[in-house]
Amino acid sequence: MFKDRLENIIKDVEEAKKRSGRTHDVTIVAVSKRFPLEDIENAYDTTGHTIYGENRIQEALDKSASLMKTRPDVQVHFIGHIQTNKVKYLKNNFALIHSVDSEKLAEFMQKHFEKEDRVQDVLVQVNIAHDENKSGTGEEDAFQLCDFIRSCPNLHLRGLMMMPPLVDDVEDNRCYFTRMKKMFDKCNDIKGYNIDTLSMGMSGDYQVAVEEGSTMVRVGTALFGHRQY
Ligand SMILES: *Cc1c(COP(=O)(O)O)cnc(C)c1O
Repeated sequence: MFKDRLENIIKDVEEAKKRSGRTHDVTIVAVSKRFPLEDIENAYDTTGHTIYGENRIQEALDKSASLMKTRPDVQVHFIGHIQTNKVKYLKNNFALIHSVDSEKLAEFMQKHFEKEDRVQDVLVQVNIAHDENKSGTGEEDAFQLCDFIRSCPNLHLRGLMMMPPLVDDVEDNRCYFTRMKKMFDKCNDIKGYNIDTLSMGMSGDYQVAVEEGSTMVRVGTALFGHRQY
């Protein structure tokens, strides 16, 4: 089941790249939140797919701790909002944290990872649509936050992440994907950041996101099915 779904998504992504004349690699993060550990184990065992996304700290830590023991090449990405009082729980668990959305959080993370004596890869989450229901830094403040993270020796800025508003017609969100891609290009061409990851696109809109230049899609429902809660 997972295997067929993953193959379909890979095919869709390749077609979206072709339609838009893009040749870069697109990473698929299989969002396993709310699904049991066994579903990830099965997904990995049947396909070899290594990258999974989680959005709640405790659930993410529990799953990644088990996977590290039994399937050490599985990587867990943290894609959910992080409260500053939860930073202390971040151990050596996450290959990438997608959701740094304030200087305060970055400051807490810097102090924490300095103590842990390692460098954590992160993305800045941008609330490009000024959606009240979503976290993320405003478009105007994003460069300032990126500059701040780049000044933190224990954080490594890898790119940007975005979650679009909920809409009926995904075409309504195309403009946000386009704007994120412009911002991503500005980060490299004008600011000289040398970042490689633009995380955008979910089950309902990953084709549009890839057409507009996404390098990493986060797909849950279309891979694992509907979540129970
Ligand atoms: C749940 C979630 C996804 C996946 O959503 P689907 O619509 O199930 O594909 C992607 N990104 C984030 C940040 C999420 O919380």
